[in-house]
Amino acid sequence: MSRIRIRILIVEDEADIASVLQDYLRHAGYETEHVADGHGALERMLTAPPALTLLDIMLPGLDGLSVLRQARAHTQHPIIMLTARVEEVDRLVGLELGADDYVCKPFSPREVVARVRAVLRRTQAEGAADNEGTAALQLDDAHWRASLNGTPLNLTRREFRLLQVMSRQPGRIFSRARLLELAYDDDADVSERAVDSHIKNLRRKLSSAAPSHDWIRSVYGVGFAFEVPLDQGLLTDP
Ligand code: CA
Repeated sequence: MSRIRIRILIVEDEADIASVLQDYLRHAGYETEHVADGHGALERMLTAPPALTLLDIMLPGLDGLSVLRQARAHTQHPIIMLTARVEEVDRLVGLELGADDYVCKPFSPREVVARVRAVLRRTQAEGAADNEGTAALQLDDAHWRASLNGTPLNLTRREFRLLQVMSRQPGRIFSRARLLELAYDDDADVSERAVDSHIKNLRRKLSSAAPSHDWIRSVYGVGFAFEVPLDQGLLTDP
């Protein structure tokens, strides 16, 4: 019996890292393809998009962040960044350019496989949610009203905007700066601490409507992500 393999593109110029990743991913049941430079990676991502790309940042030719930026203008397939740079700004830049996750080097190949599984599960769940439209969360954009499992959330306009921005991309991590840009576009005078306090109130309201799940995940030093329970779809239009 043959079955369709999920193809993972590995973009990595260090041959031994690439080969270890290939071994582990194949062992986990994935098909793999390896490219060692940025231009080649971009070409493959655009002409034959894989199910997921593991993208190293330091690459010959075109660096990983440029590949990510250019790829994102054309393809939405999940991308996990591999980085040896520990500076937080690189992580943020990576996520804000539309990466789905990142792994810091040195990493254990097992961890990479676990991240690949998690990101695929999450992005497939998002696709399923689009199709099924299970109404866990309802946002009424015209009236700034939201309800969760049928319970009105009584959000302030600010909390509504934060929820709206984050719930559109479940699982994606938003930095405070990014939230200021997206959810506070009408007010330049807000501090990052104010974002924390609005998130705290929003989280409290979500929990009181549906206590069994932690809806907003704090990612230490990075920001926040809206998390949908695995068994639930999401609908963001009334
Ligand atoms: Ca490299």
